[in-house]
Amino acid sequence: MSVEDTYLLNIRTLPIGESEGEYLITKELFDKFNNTDIISANVDCKVKIDRTDRIISLFFSFRGVISVLCDRCLEPLNLNIMAKDVLYMKLGDENIQENEEDNVVYLHEREMKFDLSQFLYESVLSQKPFRCVHGEVGEGECNAEMIERIEKQNVETSNNYLSDNNNKELDPRWEALKKIDNL
Ligand SMILES: [Zn+2]
Repeated sequence: MSVEDTYLLNIRTLPIGESEGEYLITKELFDKFNNTDIISANVDCKVKIDRTDRIISLFFSFRGVISVLCDRCLEPLNLNIMAKDVLYMKLGDENIQENEEDNVVYLHEREMKFDLSQFLYESVLSQKPFRCVHGEVGEGECNAEMIERIEKQNVETSNNYLSDNNNKELDPRWEALKKIDNL
């Protein structure tokens, strides 16, 4: 089953009144949007749906875990996700107006299905803090060995850069050219 199938809401068969749904959000969803920051995901999404003739209200509860790489030691870091979100769908006739309202989508009343992928993706992603470092968010501690290795690599890189520049200045060919220029 493709992601599109997984997160499709079938509007045509959705009953008037209350109903429920459930979606499992996995890494596949993040792959679909070419997001490589999320290295794994296992988030259960329950949705309570309330439908009138023209308005569908969806109340989502997310609960689960996503993994990202720590900004400091580059090792996996688990983030617990516990969040709620809401989406309203308004069904209309031919003259649907573009609208900028948050959390509201306007659908043609003949629309059969709605793909929730984008909404679910953004909703879970909004829970990821801007800075992800062990101990600050999520559980666990930074891998000290990794940090040491990364720091060593940074020092080597900047040393190489410095010695490259020094060599250029000391290169006798450059010196010779300089002399020609000065003639
Ligand atoms: Zn870390």
